Amino acid sequence: MGFVSRLVCVKCGGEVTPDKAPASAGTCPRCDDPFAVLDVEYDMDRVADSMTTAALAQRGTNHWRYRELLPVEHDASVFGDGGNGAAGWPVGWTPITEAPRLAAWAGVERLRVKDDGRNPTSSFKDRASSVGVLHALQQGAERIACASTGNAASSLAGWAAVAGIPATIFVPQRAPAPKIAQLLIYGADVRRVRGTYAQAYDLCSAECDRGGWYNRNCAINPYLVEGKKTCGLEIAEQTAGDLPEWVVVSVGDGCTIAGIAKGLVEMQRLGFIGRAPRVLGVQAAGVDAIARAFETGELAAEKEFSGTLADSIDVPVPRNWRKAVQRVREVEGAFVRVTDEEITTAMKAAGSLAGVFAEPAAAASIAGVKRAVAEGVIQAGASVLSVVTGSGLKDIETAKRVAGEPTDVDPL
Ligand SMILES: *Cc1c(COP(=O)(O)O)cnc(C)c1O
Ligand SMILES: [Zn+2]
Repeated sequence: MGFVSRLVCVKCGGEVTPDKAPASAGTCPRCDDPFAVLDVEYDMDRVADSMTTAALAQRGTNHWRYRELLPVEHDASVFGDGGNGAAGWPVGWTPITEAPRLAAWAGVERLRVKDDGRNPTSSFKDRASSVGVLHALQQGAERIACASTGNAASSLAGWAAVAGIPATIFVPQRAPAPKIAQLLIYGADVRRVRGTYAQAYDLCSAECDRGGWYNRNCAINPYLVEGKKTCGLEIAEQTAGDLPEWVVVSVGDGCTIAGIAKGLVEMQRLGFIGRAPRVLGVQAAGVDAIARAFETGELAAEKEFSGTLADSIDVPVPRNWRKAVQRVREVEGAFVRVTDEEITTAMKAAGSLAGVFAEPAAAASIAGVKRAVAEGVIQAGASVLSVVTGSGLKDIETAKRVAGEPTDVDPL
């Protein structure tokens, strides 16, 4: 953790020195509160001396180029990097594409799309899992675990497979079959819990404590959010000189948006950009816990939420809400809510107008642009960048329902 100076509690502001920091998951030792998560801070003067424009020019185009701003010792060799800068299994530095026809659909002057579905396991979660697996290895962990049905799990299983560390994934009884298949193909030990997601989460935490396993559960593991930050670092570097006014991303647990905003702020502090773009969080109307917390300052009860078809952002109890709310405030951002119908409409628009096949949670970031323009949050003349967080191939069932049937014809 070469450049890490300290960890700070997002609730009380109390400081934890790196030598006292939790090995993986862990919250503030002073606050008796599962939502008092920790945030990693760096010695920014030393980072500035080391992560210079000249240094970056020599590095591979993947997210390890920001090694000073990650809480691990740099070592991409465990992911197949032969040392030539190609850096093995690619993560990050995903393409940013102009989408003029999608911009016209959304009602905005300019729209760029950053497609994180192009990461190796097809979602944004690879940014966190790659850092988590490296951190686990450097902590001497013999096994890494998480509770999830979705992209966090399949991503962890993939990165663990490349690095050769065993992974155990706890999934709830009702986990969708295709997502379990991806886990099993990556060779993970998949444990289907006869119960709900919350029960799978609790069992995972207990087994991690008992077995000394590394706990990848992102929201309460401060190191993993740092991996998600690299998307913000990249946006700053890739669009420097031509920054968007707004960066738009969908929000579930709040780790992704907090990470992106933090990355933009760090690049401003290092002088790579003059001013951090504003960040717009998009939530499903039926599960808008963080949007509400942004307005009220507190978390609503779980039973107030009705759910969404965008499973990756169906998070009624977001453990990272404080970090998300604080970071969005810091960049003068905002939140909007979109319905499931707006999400599926955006899935079709993104595919047919920009060639982007997004899973529902990822298409929410496109739907959110249109909604924000309609609400006057984003001006029609603005330049916007949407982060597409996961590939549509992850959720073929929804895609099939949205897309309809092909035209049946007879052969000659
Ligand atoms: C996890 C995820 C999100 C939301 O990230 P949070 O950190 O939970 O807010 C959005 N889109 C996709 C595809 C995801 O997998
Ligand atoms: Zn605290």
